[in-house]
Amino acid sequence: MSFSTLGLSPSILKAVAKKGYETPSPIQQKAIPLILAQKDVLASAQTGTGKTAGFTLPLLHLLSKEIPQRKRPIRSLILTPTRELAAQIYDNIKAYSEFTELRSAVIFGGVNANPQIRTLENGIDVLVACPGRLLDLHSQGHLSLNKIEILVLDEADRMLDMGFLRDIKKVLSLMPTKRQNLLFSATFSKEIKQLANGILHQPVAVEAAPENTTAEKVNQKMYRVDKSSKTEMLIQMISEGNWQQVLIFSRTKHGANRLAEKLGKKNITAAAIHGNKTQNARTKALTGFKKGTIRILVATDIAARGLDIPLLPYVVNYELPNIAEDYVHRIGRTGRAGASGIAISLVGQEELAYVKSIEKLLQQQFPFETREGFEPTMDFIPEQAAKKKNPSKNNQRRKKSYRGSRNR
Ligand code: ADP
Ligand code: MG
Repeated sequence: MSFSTLGLSPSILKAVAKKGYETPSPIQQKAIPLILAQKDVLASAQTGTGKTAGFTLPLLHLLSKEIPQRKRPIRSLILTPTRELAAQIYDNIKAYSEFTELRSAVIFGGVNANPQIRTLENGIDVLVACPGRLLDLHSQGHLSLNKIEILVLDEADRMLDMGFLRDIKKVLSLMPTKRQNLLFSATFSKEIKQLANGILHQPVAVEAAPENTTAEKVNQKMYRVDKSSKTEMLIQMISEGNWQQVLIFSRTKHGANRLAEKLGKKNITAAAIHGNKTQNARTKALTGFKKGTIRILVATDIAARGLDIPLLPYVVNYELPNIAEDYVHRIGRTGRAGASGIAISLVGQEELAYVKSIEKLLQQQFPFETREGFEPTMDFIPEQAAKKKNPSKNNQRRKKSYRGSRNR
């Protein structure tokens, strides 16, 4: 199948060809015709399978059919959970709309608002935004959403969870009720789907692979290791394996800083990216990592969603996320667009419950591996480990969780 059979205009097909895409991905094949038919769509497809073009190409097609000649109202809004993802989608839109007359812009917090305001004043057709800055600039009267025709929530389940829901509701109240709604993600829980149905109008649900699944070509490994040995083991794996581009997820901002520092001391160039960094530092870290001048990027879940780092070979969970869906997104930073990748998780005793919920979500079992010299104390010599503290009580408790963890 080729892109030309999907009903997209020549100017958009030209941009697709320039990007080097030959065949539409399964989600693109399914979603594009529905969006062109102006349906509301809830689309789920694995990480790295081209969801961005799946909503952007038909959106640009629809908007370019009739472009207002004078004052341009914002006719499409794309919301994303992070600034980095907003910037990335904007880059995609620029590329895909190169041969149309459409204008687009991106706005997010942490940077000077004035250039953003000036761009908005010039009139744009498509706006990519993070909810916070969008609402700020709206309340200051710099933009209007009352001509929105198409709304996209990328990483929709994240946009509708507790952290964003209030903002999203506010944004929805500023738009015309008659509009096209497009919700895209790799994961949707039942609860979120219900919530989504309140936003969508007679939606069509499309799936390109069973939902909540990981990309096939990501080799997932779970290593059991004591928490106290994780750093040393990781440094050894990176050095001995000569890993050159590694995205490491840490649970906390502080932990991310600390790990990046420790790696630096071993002459492994590393930078941390998280919400306490300035936007300038965040952008610099991500750009350096993509270019290869920074070998290791240590991130919080800020980098878990949507970021496309082509051919990224390694993702490491230094700690597992406590939400199973986040695991799917984190490891989805590798194995993109049909490439292969390796995802390694370092699992301490206290994280065994997280493994279980990940296994439940993915309906898949992960046999534990260990690394020579870093065997976890609990698994192999539970009695000895337990004796160190309170012999009677500890031994009982530890044995129980030990049994529980292996009999899966
Ligand atoms: P998703 O949002 O599904 O995680 P992205 O939209 O970020 O995935 O796309 C992942 C990568 O695949 C990007 O680098 C993108 O340029 C590329 N890509 C998208 N569609 C195609 C296609 N039809 N053929 C080849 N590569 C594609
Ligand atoms: Mg995406």
